[in-house]
Amino acid sequence: MRVLLFDIDGTLVLSGGAGMRAMDDAFAEIYGIRGAAASVKPDGHTDPGIVIDMLAASLGRAPEAGEVERVIDRYLASLQAKLGTTHEVRVLPGVHTALESARRRGDVLGLATGNVERGARLKLTRAGLWDYFGFGGFAGADGDRVALTRRGVEAGFATAGRQLPVVVIGDTPRDVAAARGVGARVVAVATGRHSVAELRQTGADAVVETLERLDQALEQLDQALEQLG
Ligand SMILES: [Mg+2]
Repeated sequence: MRVLLFDIDGTLVLSGGAGMRAMDDAFAEIYGIRGAAASVKPDGHTDPGIVIDMLAASLGRAPEAGEVERVIDRYLASLQAKLGTTHEVRVLPGVHTALESARRRGDVLGLATGNVERGARLKLTRAGLWDYFGFGGFAGADGDRVALTRRGVEAGFATAGRQLPVVVIGDTPRDVAAARGVGARVVAVATGRHSVAELRQTGADAVVETLERLDQALEQLDQALEQLG
């Protein structure tokens, strides 16, 4: 048994840029600024971190108290509207099979995502995946990915009722760094914007092209751990 913590965007689903367009909408509504999201790289970032970067890039200042939350509220309203229409949310290859087989093995399934919890729920409900996950580490107002990953680990241990080996599954160097920051192992998957070759540079324990190879990667990690032990 293990705790598996999945990233969402680029790992479980692709939502066709709906998230960043919703961020742009929020900035347009609140500040009258269009295109503010273009200056920010979303990959592996957190929603509050994206807002903080957009404020710095477009207004040249740090957020005031409660400002990030206010932008996130508008963002969620726009995201919900976009996902409620015909907007495509694509479940990535191998995801259903990997989640089913993890559930059969008795692994404890959670999230470690830069989305705020309501955003994660909107995207994964739309994709039909929300019910796989009993808990998660979600983005907090600080936008810190190590901190949210740690919350995911702690929620996983609480769910399992004991400490278990933890594997983070994500698509960016930031997921790998956050996993390292909490002492977890990590499988990187190249279904986001980073290639297998780029992800190998991050020092992930395993790199797979799609989650169709997740089971094999997890087995290899277990074998490597046994050899060490
Ligand atoms: Mg991601």
